[in-house]
Amino acid sequence: MRAYLILLGAPGAGKGTVAKRLVDRNGWIQISTGDMLREEIAKQSSLGLEAKSYMDQGNLVPDDLIIKMLKTHLEQGDNGVLLDGFPRTEEQAISLERIFSEMGVSLDSVVNLVVPEELLLARLGGRLVCKECKASFHKLFSPPKEVGVCDHCGGTLYQRSDDNPESIQQRLRVYHTSTKPLIDFYKDKSLLADIDGSRDAEEVYNDITALLEKRGN
Ligand code: AMP
Repeated sequence: MRAYLILLGAPGAGKGTVAKRLVDRNGWIQISTGDMLREEIAKQSSLGLEAKSYMDQGNLVPDDLIIKMLKTHLEQGDNGVLLDGFPRTEEQAISLERIFSEMGVSLDSVVNLVVPEELLLARLGGRLVCKECKASFHKLFSPPKEVGVCDHCGGTLYQRSDDNPESIQQRLRVYHTSTKPLIDFYKDKSLLADIDGSRDAEEVYNDITALLEKRGN
């Protein structure tokens, strides 16, 4: 079913992992602004070079850069779009409403993944990501079968440069001041549903699927 959805949640809430399952099984496209920025950095594009210092310090990349990047990708989601990591500020949320109205579509649901802070810290501190398919592993909670190698595609696993203690603390601070207010923003529009994100990814996926079915998405 064609749907336009947002996954909200703090860094480490599991947005990327559950987003991959949702798009694979529903034919939507996943728009992860973080993954897009990391690709721009790998290509050493001017956007990537500009974004890198903000990201490494755990700060947000300026809204105008993000919105320009997002627009080109949104137009490719004929079958539905799952936004993961966007919006992160109220200004971005307002821009998204404008872009959707220009496209003649509307936002269907916002899923907020709720995870206690100590678990966020533990997840981020041990996270490993595949360079190729972006799958996420954890040194202790979900280690790959072979050290340093992705179980899904054989790609190389690495630790993100912003998954260090200082950047993690800053990203959580930024989440509290800039992104968390979006919970009320979408609650007021009756679009938001909380999901317990502290459990296993498959359980979180099943809960989200049941919720979206109930809402007709
Ligand atoms: P993520 O992969 O979603 O954890 O994002 C990693 C980093 O990319 C963030 O800490 C920000 O520096 C940047 N970033 C990703 N999405 C956005 C966004 N929507 N607005 C501003 N910065 C972003």
